[in-house]
Amino acid sequence: MRVHVLVVAAGKGLRAGGDLPKQYQDLAGQSVLRRTLTRFHQHPEVDAVTAVIADGAAELFTQCAAGLDKVTAAVPGGAERQVSVRLGLEAIARHAPDIVLIHDGARPLVSNATIAKVIAAAARDRAALAALPVADTLKRETEAQTTLETVPRAGLWRAQTPQGFDFATILDLHQRFAERDDMTDDASLCEAAGIPVTLVEDRADNIKITRPDDFVMAERLLETNMETRVGSGFDVHAFEEGSSVTLCGVDIPHTAKLKGHSDADVGMHALTDAIYGALADGDIGHHFPPSDNQWRGASSDVFLKHAMDRLAQRGGRLILADVTLMCEAPKVGPHRDAMRQQLAEIMGVSVDRVAVKATTTEKLGFTGRGEGIAAQATATISLPAAS
Ligand code: MG
Repeated sequence: MRVHVLVVAAGKGLRAGGDLPKQYQDLAGQSVLRRTLTRFHQHPEVDAVTAVIADGAAELFTQCAAGLDKVTAAVPGGAERQVSVRLGLEAIARHAPDIVLIHDGARPLVSNATIAKVIAAAARDRAALAALPVADTLKRETEAQTTLETVPRAGLWRAQTPQGFDFATILDLHQRFAERDDMTDDASLCEAAGIPVTLVEDRADNIKITRPDDFVMAERLLETNMETRVGSGFDVHAFEEGSSVTLCGVDIPHTAKLKGHSDADVGMHALTDAIYGALADGDIGHHFPPSDNQWRGASSDVFLKHAMDRLAQRGGRLILADVTLMCEAPKVGPHRDAMRQQLAEIMGVSVDRVAVKATTTEKLGFTGRGEGIAAQATATISLPAAS
């Protein structure tokens, strides 16, 4: 089953204030739209994500989607939401999806659980939407605005997104109802055609960012939704004949070199595995198989950057990288700050988030006998607790 997500982000979004449309404004260090795209990109059941964007927003969008390889080229939208969705559906038809999820670009806090439930319900029932039961008592202003009416709330739900559909069904409805301009969401088209829609109970934190206050609320929700994880890594490389070693990206003259498939940077390998570990996302050997000749002699910053990309794709950030090198020689101390600088630059973090330490093993074991160098590392990361 092929699941495609259509993110609707063509609005001008001026109610939120600011110079940019709200979906491109910063929310705790990333744009709203990047956060929304990332939520779907990292979901294991989602195959591809396409956004519908406004005229002239191509450059802003490219920044939002950088490094997210499930995100396809954006589709230019129309003046109304309904037109934008139809254009988006027509554009993704060539990917032949079975299920499409249609989602507001301004809902960056959608959970993994809601995404999974909407996919399952759409696959089973043809049409589904995330929604919240109305808890407040509802009042309607009368025309004269002097009295109020209470609207019975029994059976009332607030429609949110994602809304999920059998792809052929919703594409057909959008083409059939292209002239109607009274549809404020996509489930409405099913209702108009008499197709039942399944309600999927959503979480209250899947808010739509509309007004300036919503940014404050979303930032608070993001803070409380982050979890801290620690991963560990360990690596060993043996010495062979040579005249320098590469440790944490720094070349140090020595009476031997380290043997390995890549540049054998034992410290950087341990750190890279620590980041993969914190993500529970395999190890260097899994992502860069030694059997693959393209990594022969590779500079290890390729591995470290890859692990950091995987972290960014999951919406996470590095809190601290801590590496310990174990050897009798060469001396690490004089190169420590250069190593920290080097690692910080590769990872795109400030140098106070990178520690490099060294120890001998009191002449014991293989490191003590000068047969090689061992390294261990921990990576502490902050990651959205999306599930
Ligand atoms: Mg290694």
